[in-house]
Amino acid sequence: MNSERLSNRLKTVASFVDEGAVVADIGSDHAYLPCFLIRTKKVEKAIAGEVAKGPYESAVKNVRREGFSEVITVRMADGLFAIEDNDAVDTVTIAGMGGPLIATILESGKERLSQVKRIITQPNIYSRAIREWAISNAWVIINEQILKEDGKIYEIIVMEKGQASYGELELMAGPLLLTAKNEVFIEKWESELSEWNRVLDSLGKTTETAAIITKKEQLTRHIELVGKVLAT
Ligand code: SAM
Repeated sequence: MNSERLSNRLKTVASFVDEGAVVADIGSDHAYLPCFLIRTKKVEKAIAGEVAKGPYESAVKNVRREGFSEVITVRMADGLFAIEDNDAVDTVTIAGMGGPLIATILESGKERLSQVKRIITQPNIYSRAIREWAISNAWVIINEQILKEDGKIYEIIVMEKGQASYGELELMAGPLLLTAKNEVFIEKWESELSEWNRVLDSLGKTTETAAIITKKEQLTRHIELVGKVLAT
């Protein structure tokens, strides 16, 4: 992958960036996403933030090689601390990490979101952590996508400021993904369901402790909830 041959996963993230936005891509690694946004002329200015030295250096090298050093600022910083007030960043992208890490990045740097209008996240696992963060911090999910690439399933969650409340199933599976219920969504939850059933089965064969009882109850509740969605 490079910024000319971007993955569908990152292209889908890019599709939610408005024309003319000022973007901060957090955890940018090679800076493929900001380079793509500049090269396709969707945005005129971007920040690439990276906490680790190796990926930061790759980002600097790629931005230089593409001739975008004037319009993409690469900063070595932890999470949202890559954003400075006079950047006028209005859109944040955070892709390719676990949901809990993305939620921690959003929580620990949330004072840097004061001018931000849209957050686009692509959690690799446990997207629920981001939905929980959204509710607690007055962000509402305005779009969600689920896609499969190279045998892996990815979710994308787009948020803007606003109040929302999501139930257990919506937190787990995504309020808008649940409504759309596309093929990839069904594949993901059929696979989760069969894994939960397998675990529940093997827990049934072990000695019961308080922790096992709680785990079995939780699995049974999730199996019921997701089972109903798949059955309708
Ligand atoms: N965003 C790119 C993508 O989706 O292809 C790169 C994903 S890569 C797997 C995750 C990157 O996030 C790594 O380069 C890692 O160093 C960076 N990262 C992890 N925690 C971070 C943090 N707190 N602040 C900034 N970058 C972080």
